[in-house]
Amino acid sequence: MPRSVKVAVIPGDGIGPEIMSATVKVLDFLKLPFEFVRVNVGRKAWEKRGAAITDEDLDVIKSCDVVLKGPVETPVGRGTYRSVTVTIRKELGLYANVRPFRSIEGLALIPNVDIVLIRENTEGLYSGIEFRIGEDTALGIRVITRQACERILRFAFEYARRNGRKKVTAVHKANILKETCGLFLEVAKEVSTEYSDIAYDHAHVDAVAYDLLKRPERFDVIVTTNLFGDILSDELAGITGSIGVAASANVGDKYAMFEAIHGTAPDIAGKGIANPAGLMLAASMMLNHVGFSREADLLRSAVMRALTMKKVCTPDVGGRGNTDTFTSAVLDELSKMMSVV
Ligand code: ATP
Repeated sequence: MPRSVKVAVIPGDGIGPEIMSATVKVLDFLKLPFEFVRVNVGRKAWEKRGAAITDEDLDVIKSCDVVLKGPVETPVGRGTYRSVTVTIRKELGLYANVRPFRSIEGLALIPNVDIVLIRENTEGLYSGIEFRIGEDTALGIRVITRQACERILRFAFEYARRNGRKKVTAVHKANILKETCGLFLEVAKEVSTEYSDIAYDHAHVDAVAYDLLKRPERFDVIVTTNLFGDILSDELAGITGSIGVAASANVGDKYAMFEAIHGTAPDIAGKGIANPAGLMLAASMMLNHVGFSREADLLRSAVMRALTMKKVCTPDVGGRGNTDTFTSAVLDELSKMMSVV
């Protein structure tokens, strides 16, 4: 663990700056040896200087130990810029996206769900390799490589082993996408034989979308390709709580970046009612990653306790409060817990 941890802080667009300032406030309260380095990328940077993210931004990010990131807008359509998030994931080699989903009392559609979704982060349809042929035909290319499949599948099995998980389910659509999903499935079978202590099965993505609602207990760790992972994550966020309270870690061999799973929520930006819980829980994952596991647990517990108080919670989770009241409640809970530890 480094003595001082340099954290690249990317506020992002939409509600990003609001939830980031709330999250940095709770991190400051923990009085850890953090140095925050602010990096402004995304829509405003693009409007100001014609580039949503530059090589210099990436150098600054790479000079830090970890990254805490708010949502960054990716405009729809041609003539704009490519996803900043996808660029950072690629440049930093953040190949694994880890998204833990556990039912939150009072918010979950289905109780007792406890599933970790591991999503391949660097290739697949989500890379957005697309072309127009004339005006009326569009082509998208789905690149799937053995190397990236092996890396993410091994990551999933190692994750299961390290975290006392019992089973890994590989999710695909190999009956239709015989080459791309076929390769993913082939590698999944091979890698699974190296982990006799972890159960393995596989399933079609559409059946999984259904089973997550009907019998979620059949899943433990799910590993899947980029776009399927993106979609199933939102479903799992809805099942276990709400989009505003789900967190994720993007992990590579050298770097790691932590973020909420939601987008920029332009419909509520600037209104002071954005839910900072997802980013705060991502910050808790970050604390764990850099070795502050006690503080990680404290922050997680404080957020969970605050989420039970309707008076302070934001409207998206049925609360009567706003970003500030929720943040104050998290700080109060932290203060109470820290005074008894
Ligand atoms: P993007 O294009 O950046 O993904 P989006 O609007 O398509 O943006 P989200 O930003 O994830 O997708 O928002 C989906 C819905 O969930 C919106 O109604 C938004 O207001 C709500 N939402 C998302 N995150 C939060 C949050 N942290 N707090 C409150 N509501 C949220």
